[in-house]
Amino acid sequence: MVDQKKIEQAVRLLLEGIGEDVDREGLADTPNRVARMYAELYRGMEEDAALHLSRTFAVDSNEIVVEKDITFYSTCEHHLMPFYGKAHIAYLPDGRVVGLSKLARTVEVYARRPQIQEQMTTQIAEAVMEHLKPQGVMVMVEAEHMCMTMRGVSKPGSRTVTMAARGCFRDNPQLQQYFFEMVRK
Ligand code: ZN
Repeated sequence: MVDQKKIEQAVRLLLEGIGEDVDREGLADTPNRVARMYAELYRGMEEDAALHLSRTFAVDSNEIVVEKDITFYSTCEHHLMPFYGKAHIAYLPDGRVVGLSKLARTVEVYARRPQIQEQMTTQIAEAVMEHLKPQGVMVMVEAEHMCMTMRGVSKPGSRTVTMAARGCFRDNPQLQQYFFEMVRK
């Protein structure tokens, strides 16, 4: 469980650390507000993708399913700064599919944790493989990292693209090509 009291104490210390007067009016409720916000931003810590991916439906023919432009907001675990963008998921069923909203929910489970984009991408792919058991899955994540654009090298608009392919997508250039075409449309 998220310990909101602990977060509040930490935010107070953080503000003191940067030289702020934590008792001034504008900051009085900030530790509590941030603690409640963190509970929301990191609620994926308490969630399991199995919950969303285990309710599956039988299908007669195995046609490729693409769910693209799933907007997500996450936090990089190196700076605790936001990174956000879009995730695209494709899978080739093996007799069973899952409700489309469940793929978006799976992205949420992994986005709402301290994360690195590469890891989030593979976690999504592996969760789909494990719980939905398709013939294969491909995941692409495109994101802008505030720790890159707001500080450091400071390159606004630059995007990081990560990919994970499992099962039949791993060594099938044709399937991968189809995925890229669908995502680019
Ligand atoms: Zn970072």
